[in-house]
Amino acid sequence: AAPHQHKLAIGIDLGTTNSLVATVQSGEAKTLADENNQVILPSAVHYTQDGIEVGEGAFKNAALDAENTLISVKRFLGKSKADIEVEYKQLPYKLSDEGGVFSIETCQGLINPIQASSEILKHLKLRAENSFGGDEITGAVITVPAHFDDAQRQGTKDAAELAGLNVLRLLNEPTAAAVAYGLDSGQEGIIAVYDLGGGTFDISILRLSKGVFEVLATGGDASLGGDDFDALLVEYFKQQTNQTHLEAKTLRLFISKAKACKEALSQYKTVNVGLEVDGLPQTVTVTKEFFNELATPLIKKTLRACRRAVKDADISNEDVLEVVMVGGSTRMPSVREQVGAFFEKQPLTSIDPDQVVAIGAAIQADILVGN
Ligand code: AMP
Repeated sequence: AAPHQHKLAIGIDLGTTNSLVATVQSGEAKTLADENNQVILPSAVHYTQDGIEVGEGAFKNAALDAENTLISVKRFLGKSKADIEVEYKQLPYKLSDEGGVFSIETCQGLINPIQASSEILKHLKLRAENSFGGDEITGAVITVPAHFDDAQRQGTKDAAELAGLNVLRLLNEPTAAAVAYGLDSGQEGIIAVYDLGGGTFDISILRLSKGVFEVLATGGDASLGGDDFDALLVEYFKQQTNQTHLEAKTLRLFISKAKACKEALSQYKTVNVGLEVDGLPQTVTVTKEFFNELATPLIKKTLRACRRAVKDADISNEDVLEVVMVGGSTRMPSVREQVGAFFEKQPLTSIDPDQVVAIGAAIQADILVGN
């Protein structure tokens, strides 16, 4: 190849619930969409008699064919069967540790978390190759949570290699987010990355020195995320419609209405929610002020984790130069306000919080292949 030929490099955010792939094209980092124009790939793998389905289609089977639909396998990477049994009480899977390897019994035989993760990665690799007109990918940067241990990192790397990817580097998710904002070429000092997704919360305190990020502290709550805000609204809907117990179908309706209401309140002052209870239509009105009050205890909980991380990093809030926001739930204005007040700094929000990690990974990959 000519010395200045552009090499194809990708960044992959391999997430617990969603995964994305991005690349740098004409000097600009962007996420790659599938044929339906979707950039987000649900991290779900469905094993059937005839094959393997990945993404949205697989995710839909999580309820219908739970045994054979692997969701959130990232939680299992680098863990033993014993670890998993202690941590998760009610998994819909048949667990095995045949040959000393944790795996799940599916209709296609034993599948381990590395194999399932590699299906997600293969899917994204193929998406990237298609968007490059079939050209080969030189290398990939895959992101991992900053708190991942060696076994979890090795599992991620093995999954990528199994997918036929040349792993240039594993990159910590908060570091990727900081890179997306170009903070690696900015002022040296402390950066906080606040990541509130659908089901988890992570806070990372990084220090940039000589162009390299070091993780000073991590913290968070593995069971706090957007879903918990939805649950508060569901309770409110129940109260307003005089319901004490909801049947499964009504509960699913209330949860999806709650999520839509919460998301709309990031934009509007008042939202009218149409519900159906016992076949009768009912409307519940939710104002921004009311939702903020409802949400504040959960936000305060994240701030307590921030306070602990700041303490563990042996710094103080004033030392933080920038706060990077990651995860869909940081679109909530009250989250932005309260995090901003906590660090006494306007948080960075201009890059899509669902895409920022993949974008940072793509920028890093582009540098590593020498473009
Ligand atoms: P993630 O796991 O990062 O994709 O985060 C998904 C979470 O972000 C879900 O709980 C969504 O309801 C939430 N989310 C997405 N968009 C918004 C929005 N505009 N306002 C509030 N929450 C949102």
